[in-house]
Amino acid sequence: MSLPFRLSVAVPLYNEESVLPEFLRRTRAVIDTVAGGPHQMVLVDDGSVDRTWALLEEAAAADSRLVVVGLSRNFGHQAALTAALDHCSGDAVVVMDADLQDVPEAIPLFVEKFQQGYDVVYATRASRKEAWWLKLCYFLFYRVLAMLSEMRLPLDAGDFALLSRRVVEQLRRLPEHHRYLRGLRSWVGFPQIGIPVDRAERHSGKSKYSIGKLLRLASDGIFAFSIVPLRAAILTGALATALSVLFAIYSVYARLFLKRSPQGFTALVLLITFLSGILLFFMGIIGEYVGRLYEEVKARPLYIVGKTVGWPPAHSPALPATEFATEPIEASRSAAQVKNK
Ligand code: UDP
Ligand code: MG
Repeated sequence: MSLPFRLSVAVPLYNEESVLPEFLRRTRAVIDTVAGGPHQMVLVDDGSVDRTWALLEEAAAADSRLVVVGLSRNFGHQAALTAALDHCSGDAVVVMDADLQDVPEAIPLFVEKFQQGYDVVYATRASRKEAWWLKLCYFLFYRVLAMLSEMRLPLDAGDFALLSRRVVEQLRRLPEHHRYLRGLRSWVGFPQIGIPVDRAERHSGKSKYSIGKLLRLASDGIFAFSIVPLRAAILTGALATALSVLFAIYSVYARLFLKRSPQGFTALVLLITFLSGILLFFMGIIGEYVGRLYEEVKARPLYIVGKTVGWPPAHSPALPATEFATEPIEASRSAAQVKNK
C-alpha cells in the first residue's frame, strides 16, 4: 500500500503581520480539501521586525502541521524561499508568497496536474493587478530574458509553483548564491507545465520589493542565465574595429587621391566620448560577472537559521535523506565551512 500523499506549502515572510492570519486561514482551508495528508506548512520568517514571528510561533504551537523557521536576519526573498524548501518534507511542495497575491485556491489545480505526472506546475500570470508601468516592466523583462537566455524560460511565470520531491532535491543541490529560483526550476527539467492563474492584489501591507530589489532580481535572472552580455562586447568591439579600418582606408585614399585629410575636432571628441562610454559600459558588465564569481567563491551560506518551532516535524514518514534534514543550522552552512571546522 502506498503512503498517503503529503503536501508541503513553503512560504517566505518579511513583515507580514497584517496578512498572516488571513493567509493562514485561507491556505489551511484549501489544504484541508486536498486528499492525503497530514499536509505541512513551512513558514520562514526572513528577519521581520514586526509581530510576524510572534504570530508564527503562536500558530505553530496550536497546529502541529506548521513548521516555522526564523532566520537570523533579513536574507531576502530568494534565500528565504531556499530555507523554506530545505525544511519541507512533503511529496510535493507548493512555493508561494504570503501576501495572498498567489491565491491559495489554485493549489488543488496544481495538485491535480502533479497527479497527472508533472513534476513542476507553475502559475503563469493570466492577469496581474499592479501599476501599468510595473506591468510593462515585467512584460519587457520576461521577454528580454527569454531572448538572452540559452534556456527556454517560460514567459510571465513567477515563483508560485508546485515542485515534486525530486525537483526540490535537485534544487537543493544547486549551491548558487544569486538565486533566481524560477529560472533554476526550469533548468532542472522533468515534465513541467504552466497553468494560468490570476495574480491578485496584495491583501494588505506594502510590497517588500523596492525598485532596487526588483532590478537586482532581474539582473540575477539575466546574469545567471545568459552570457550574451559578454558576447555583445565582442560583437561591439568587432564592429568598432571594422568601422575604424574602413575609415583608415578611406583616409589614405583621401590623402593620396583627393589630396585632403579628414578633419573635425568635434567629431573626434564625440567619437572618443562615445567609445569610452561603450568601453566603460562593457567593463561594468564584465565587473558584474566577476563580482558574481567573487560572491560564489566566498561560498557564504545562503541563510542562517536562528530559531525553529515544529522542526523536525512530528509526522514525517519521508524526511528527505540528506545531512541537512535534521539540523537546519547545518543547512545554512556551506560544505566548505563545515569541512574546515
Ligand atoms: N519577502 C521575504 N524577504 C524579503 C522580501 C520579501 O521573505 O526580503 C517575502 C514577502 O513577505 C512575500 C514574498 O517574499 O511573502 C514576496 O514579496 P512581495 O509581495 O513584497 O513582492 P512582490 O509581490 O511585490 O513582488
Ligand atoms: Mg507580493
